[in-house]
Amino acid sequence: MTMPLPFPPILKVGVFPERIDQKLHQTFQLFEPGDLDGDPALCERIEGIVTRSNYRIAEALIDRLPRLRIIATNGVGYDGIPVEYAQKKGVVVTNTPDVLNEAVAELALGLLLSLLRHIPAADAFVKSGAWQTAPFPLTTTLAGKRVGIVGLGRIGREIAQRLLPFRVEIAYFGRTRQDLTWDFYDDVEKLAADTDILIVCCPGGPATHHLINAAVLRALGPSGVLVNVARGSVVDEAQLCAALAGQVIAGAALDVFNEEPLGDSPLRGFSNVVLAPHMGSATNETRLRMADLAIDNLSGFFKTGQALTPVG
Ligand code: NAP
Repeated sequence: MTMPLPFPPILKVGVFPERIDQKLHQTFQLFEPGDLDGDPALCERIEGIVTRSNYRIAEALIDRLPRLRIIATNGVGYDGIPVEYAQKKGVVVTNTPDVLNEAVAELALGLLLSLLRHIPAADAFVKSGAWQTAPFPLTTTLAGKRVGIVGLGRIGREIAQRLLPFRVEIAYFGRTRQDLTWDFYDDVEKLAADTDILIVCCPGGPATHHLINAAVLRALGPSGVLVNVARGSVVDEAQLCAALAGQVIAGAALDVFNEEPLGDSPLRGFSNVVLAPHMGSATNETRLRMADLAIDNLSGFFKTGQALTPVG
């Protein structure tokens, strides 16, 4: 005889890797948005939502679930969730901070080195046999450069710590000066003007929408490069494409995009651009830790009324 699960039914919004899906199914009775259609009784029973940061939760969905008490996202970014609206309705929102810092920082470093040393092109060069007929063009050294971190938070600090052994100088932009020896800028354009490399790792959402625009890219200059592991919305993609086409900056490495998955974008055509499919936290180890934290948020909340890592 199977024991009934001790938690109320949960709505799963988004597709999860199989191992994570299994973990969720072991703990909760899960339903998908399609199950709600034509089943008002189910809408009445759902008390939690589990989702991922690349899915959007509509206010209308919150309205459809009168007993909803918690939305748990697998990810640190929650710009896809109408947090204020949820909180006004008494719904707790949780995310999974810290457990993904290392993976995202590793990817930022990997993207930066790939961009400066043209590693994807070098790989194609050797595999195609082109090396037999010509030398590979010279690339750029990281050591000695000045790196500007846009959003020196949990992930930004991990990136900075990993960059220091490469013998670079660090500066940062944010809303508040931190108790650090690195140069603080309250103007992102000034930071761009004073640095060779800009790494974007602030949150998405209205406050940072198109923070990186044509003026910032002009300030970064023709030998400057941009790395974005934050959110696509932080960079004005049309202005970035214009800057790349006009050699206003030297190149870009991007893990995140305005529309994901990336469609037929001009970004796919630039040889001085390295692209990744929003994979900052996408390692087996990290995704399992994120799922565990999301599950602990849900189960802890249903047991005690307290979530481990609520937002806001
Ligand atoms: P965090 O600890 O909250 O750090 C965010 C930093 O951004 C803080 O230093 C904050 O400094 C700054 N910031 C916040 N609002 C700002 C604004 N309006 N203008 C300028 N700076 C602002 O967050 P985190 O855990 O490091 O995560 C950062 C972001 O990384 C997430 O929100 C998510 O979008 C992105 N992310 C991407 C991936 C990926 O797969 N690529 C994975 C995880 C996270 P001040 O408060 O001083 O402004």
